[in-house]
Parts: sequence; structure tokens; C-alpha cells
Amino acid sequence: MKKEIKPLEPDLMDKLMALCKHRGFIIPGSEIYGGLANSWDFGPYGALLKQNIRRAWLKHFVTSRDDVVLMDSSIIMNSRVWEASGHLQNFTDPLVDCKKCKKRFRADHLLEARSLEPGYDKEKPVDWLEIKCPECAGDLTEVRQFNLMFKTSVGPVAESGAVVYLRPENAAGMFTDFKSIQQSMRQRLPFGIAQIGKVFRNEVTPGNWIFRTREFELMELEYFIHPRGWEKVFDMWLGEIKSWLKSLGVRDEHLYFHEIEGADRAHYSKRTVDIEYNYPFGLKELYGLAYRTDFDLSQHAKTSGADLTYTDPVTNETFVPHVVEPSMGLERTVLVTMLEAYHEEEAPTAEEGATDRRVVLKFPKHLAPIQVAVLPLSKKEELMGPSQSLAQELRQHLVVEYDETQSIGRRYRRQDEIGTPYCVTIDFDTIQDKAVTVRDRDSMKQERVKITEVVGYLIKKYS
Ligand code: ATP
Repeated sequence: MKKEIKPLEPDLMDKLMALCKHRGFIIPGSEIYGGLANSWDFGPYGALLKQNIRRAWLKHFVTSRDDVVLMDSSIIMNSRVWEASGHLQNFTDPLVDCKKCKKRFRADHLLEARSLEPGYDKEKPVDWLEIKCPECAGDLTEVRQFNLMFKTSVGPVAESGAVVYLRPENAAGMFTDFKSIQQSMRQRLPFGIAQIGKVFRNEVTPGNWIFRTREFELMELEYFIHPRGWEKVFDMWLGEIKSWLKSLGVRDEHLYFHEIEGADRAHYSKRTVDIEYNYPFGLKELYGLAYRTDFDLSQHAKTSGADLTYTDPVTNETFVPHVVEPSMGLERTVLVTMLEAYHEEEAPTAEEGATDRRVVLKFPKHLAPIQVAVLPLSKKEELMGPSQSLAQELRQHLVVEYDETQSIGRRYRRQDEIGTPYCVTIDFDTIQDKAVTVRDRDSMKQERVKITEVVGYLIKKYS
């Protein structure tokens, strides 16, 4: 029985996309050339948000633990890596075309949309004559398998160069370098190798903004274990993912932990949980967690001839380590963080008793792109001078934006829209009482703080 998943407002995506374009979070890629379908650039605030999420992930999954190390492997690897991992043969999506309107679809998505269980099965393709194009009800072609890896070649002459692929996931680097890292870092099992990096997939049907694109970043971890007790390790990582999502502000009622049944799991996996989120366009995957047994290291050992076994220093047992793999997309993390942060509410204006509607991104403080905005009440020199020096002092510790244009009310609204937790205003009273106003984004409460103490006060808010 699926639990009741709370739906998000259907037009939330449109509102968020408009806000992101307007405020420079996420903008269409190559726009001045008419764009490139499904490519998105992260503008200044988007890039800072992404950076903050990477940093938070690193802390949560790597540096706050003593059993996980970080690596950064090459995007282009020896092609035999993909032969061993099975990507060359199996990293395919089932593809169908509409004979009438020529639109292309993923066969498994068409089945999912019709709630056909257990979904598309490569061994037993369904009768496609029964399934029609969802756009124009035209007939569909037979299912073809389409490899998602981007192919290119190394060397100056394309024809004679060796064929290589842009990596479709980071995990391969953690497997090929497993032994080297385990030995150089003198790691004992259980231990993990983590990586954050760009991956590339020639998706059949990208879309839903940054949900499905052809290049994206993965934050992945391979946790190497003895198979005994894998169940506990799996639950431990499931717990870590849950607490990570909580730290992003993701509400439990929007999540569904989908246990993948035996027939739908990869043949080597003994347990897989898809962590699904109820996006405005439906309940779909956010992250994956899989116990992959010793499949990966065994395959790489077999194909490369390298010895990828591990000998337990206490029991002297030699075995190929098994892995539990949490795999998390950075762009989907950005998307859910923003969907959760987006609020529209009635808020008081400067006019006594009046209110208007404000849009505010209530990011958890540590993820906000701008930490403090410094806003002089007017453009008069006696306010701008001290405001600029305060902003410069604060920049030594925090990410600061200085803004002196427009009315103070509009500047507050702008900071609300980009999710800045604190605004510091310098007004004419400051000259006399040597104090500034600090406004809290969420409560909109204003507090008077001595100018000599405000730097320490704000640093403390972020520690
Ligand atoms: P899906 O079923 O949505 O295609 P998948 O099962 O192929 O996803 P994995 O191979 O498990 O996904 O990838 C790990 C994670 O990478 C996903 O949980 C998701 O966060 C992210 N991800 C996968 N494909 C994309 C994509 N095309 N664009 C953005 N993020 C993606």
C-alpha cells in the first residue's frame, strides 16, 4: 500500500522557473543562439546554491565521518571500463516513435503512465499494438534499445582515434581505483569512496526542466563491505539519506520510499530502494540506494585481470568486497530544495496596516546563495560610506550582497525572492545610535544591533 503522498501545486514549476530566470538562478543554455533543448545554465545565485549543496553533501556524507574518503576521477575512461560495467551492452532505454506525429517516447514511461505492472520488462516486451501515442493516438513503432552513452574519440584524427565515452555515472572510478585508494589510505572494511562530478546521458526524453537533462552532476558513494550484515549497512545509508533530505528542508509527506521488487531490480542487486518525490509533474525518482553485491568489483577484476580482493587483517579471510551505493543527482536536489523553499504569503508593507503578497525562498540558512544583504536606507553619502565598509568587513566571513537601488521595501522583497536570511539596514539613526537593523527573512522581525557587534552577531547565526 502506497502511503498518501501530498501533491504539490501543479503550477509551482512554472512559478519557480519564472522566478529562477528572472533572478538569475537557472537560465536556458545557449539562449542567444535560440537555445539547445533541455540545456540549462546555472546563473550566479544558482551556481552558489549548487556549491552550497555540494559542500553540505560533502560534510554530511564524507567529512563528518571517519569511514568515507573523497575522490575525483576522469570523465573519459578506458572503454573497457564500460564493457566490464555492462554499460556498453545494457545501458539502454527502450525507445518507441509515433508513426504519425513522429514524437519519441520511452516505452517504460508509457507503461508507467498507464499503471501497467510490473512495468517494461526487457525479456517479455508487451504488445505495442495495444499502446497508442499519448499525444495523437497514432500507432507506435516496435521497441528499440537505445544506448545512452555519448561516444567520442581521443586523438587528433577522429577516424583513427580510439573510441571513448563520456562517463554516464561516477561509480566506475570508485571501482577501478578501489584497491589503490584502499591501500594508500590504509582503509579497513567497511569504508566508502565518494565522488561528486558531471556525468552525461543521451536521454531519449529529457524534460521537466532540470529534472532530466543530458548532462548533470551525481553525488555518489560506494560503501565497501563484507556481505555479512549488509542489511544493517543498507538501513544505515537509508537513514543517512533521510536525515540529509531533512537537512534540505524536504518534507516527509512529499517523499515515498519505493522498495523495488525482485523482478524489477537489476539481477545483481539484493535490495534497491528508489527514493521518490512528488514533483508538481508527478511522483518520480529523486535518488537511488542499492545493494549491488560484489557484481562491480568482480566484473572489473574479470575484465582487467587485476586482483580486486581484500584480505581482512583480523580473520585473514580474502574476498571481493560487496557494495551499498547511495546515488544522488545534484540538479534534482536543487529542484526539490527550491520546490520546498518556495512560499507565497501575505506580508506587511511599510504602510501602516497594509499587506501585499510576497514570494520568499525559505532555504535552510546554510544553503542560501546570499547570506547577508547590506542595504543603506538612502543613497546619501553619510549612509553609503558606513554601509560599504560594513559590507566589505562582512565579506571576509560571509557571502554578502550590497544593494543601494530602489525603495527599501522593494529591496527586501528582492532579497526574499532569492532567499537571503538576513538583511542589514543602515539608516539615519545609525549615525547617532551606532546601531543597524537586522531583518529576519522568515519572521520579518527587525532587531537593532550595535554596529560594532553586528559582524559577530551574523557570523554566529551561521555557525
Ligand atoms: P531515471 O529512472 O529517472 O531515469 P535512473 O534510475 O536512470 O533515473 P540512476 O542511474 O539511478 O537513475 O541515477 C542516479 C541518480 O541520478 C538519480 O536518482 C537522479 O537523482 C539522477 N539522475 C538520473 N538521470 C538524470 C537525468 N537525466 N538528469 C538529472 N538527474 C538524473
